[in-house]
Amino acid sequence: MGGYFGVVSREDCVSDLFYGTDYHSHLGTRRGGLAVHNGGGCTRFIHDITNAQFRSKFEQDVLKLKGRMGIGVISDTEDQPLIIGSHLGNYAIVTVGRIANAAELVKKAYGLRSAHFSEMSGQEVNPTELVALYINQGSTFAEGIEIAQEAIAGSCSLLLLTDKGIYAARDKLGRTPIVLGQKEGAYAASMESCAFPNLGYETLRDLGPGEVVRLTAEGVETMTLPRSRCQICAFLWVYYGYPASTYEGINTEDARYRSGAALARRDPTPVDVVAGIPDSGTGHAIGYAMEKGVPFRRPFVKYTPTWSRSFMPQDQLTRDLVARMKIIPIKELIQNQRLLFCEDSIVRGTQLKDTVQRLYDYGAKEVHMRPACPPLIFGCKFLNFSRSKSELDLAGRRAIKEMEGQDGPPPPAYADPESDQHQAMVERIRHRLGLTTLQYQRLADLVGAIGLPKDQLCTYCWDGKE
Ligand code: SF4
Repeated sequence: MGGYFGVVSREDCVSDLFYGTDYHSHLGTRRGGLAVHNGGGCTRFIHDITNAQFRSKFEQDVLKLKGRMGIGVISDTEDQPLIIGSHLGNYAIVTVGRIANAAELVKKAYGLRSAHFSEMSGQEVNPTELVALYINQGSTFAEGIEIAQEAIAGSCSLLLLTDKGIYAARDKLGRTPIVLGQKEGAYAASMESCAFPNLGYETLRDLGPGEVVRLTAEGVETMTLPRSRCQICAFLWVYYGYPASTYEGINTEDARYRSGAALARRDPTPVDVVAGIPDSGTGHAIGYAMEKGVPFRRPFVKYTPTWSRSFMPQDQLTRDLVARMKIIPIKELIQNQRLLFCEDSIVRGTQLKDTVQRLYDYGAKEVHMRPACPPLIFGCKFLNFSRSKSELDLAGRRAIKEMEGQDGPPPPAYADPESDQHQAMVERIRHRLGLTTLQYQRLADLVGAIGLPKDQLCTYCWDGKE
């Protein structure tokens, strides 16, 4: 994934930029970057944040930065922000999304003959540089952004830091959010609205799909009107959105309570304790416990002093080890209990299987699992969303492959919770994980818990519908 924050102020903006960008640290684990316009041009810093938090990497740089406009990014992929010289003027750019047709766009760009790329990583073109190249084809920034958006398959939301303010552009189907905030003498654009309250900003509004605005210290100017069709990612409310953030007017934590309550309403299973797999299962579990009138407890606690962020080592073995080290079981709360856990989703299921075994080792009588979304059976094509990147690793796809005897697009019946195929798939996953019962959220209930009409949400992960 990734996240961005931009601010334009009558005063120095660096402190707001630093903390505002830091509030996106849960969205990426590879690179952090800041660019500040100081009147004469842009100054930029980029750091590897694989093994250290954004704040600790940038606290010295921030002392050297000064300016009234800036953009920042947490990136799960490439180095950003990039500083680009073009006929439109010099500017800095950050992007979040996934350019599914990057190879084709690179080929077309080489067809222009004069195009070149300077941010190569191995054989790979930096996707943000590719977007900039298409923006540079416009006669204005707004026109260039339009050209880039039309060319991109997938999605791309971006911020541009220019001499004349910050351009904020949401991807054309609104898969990722951009929220505008305001305080006396300053405007900000953010992926996460949770960046606003502690910096003194009030939320102004969400950008619409494909909308482009220009922020100056004086206000917000619409450069391109929003499109009518929206496909915002439903996974924001299930897993990766921050609980204190609100998108399209719907708060994440609140939606998770409704999601947990919906799970509880369909579930007659008698249990002693409801718990969440920390942290993203917690909101769903609170909603479940409140609806069912069963005590909410924490038989697993997260070791927050050193595992406070989602640290993502490159190799799977270390990742599994880190996942295990992060959460500590409490034997006294597990022994002889019928435990029901809410989890945001089951991806591969490998770590969950280990967790379930640990619960039995500590004396759990029963372990019931309630994922807050339906089985994942399609990998995300629209965002760089690491959880479901490799489609065939998904627990649901593995089960389907075993039943169908081959890979390939899953027959639609697997997405229908009433079908025999769906139930057989769930039973296989339950058996593999060693669970007493496994009951997934239904898509209609998840959509109801979020509260937007289904046709305004992307639900491709679960039903394969675009
Ligand atoms: S496919 Fe899934 S993760 Fe990707 S945008 Fe759609 S709902 Fe979100």
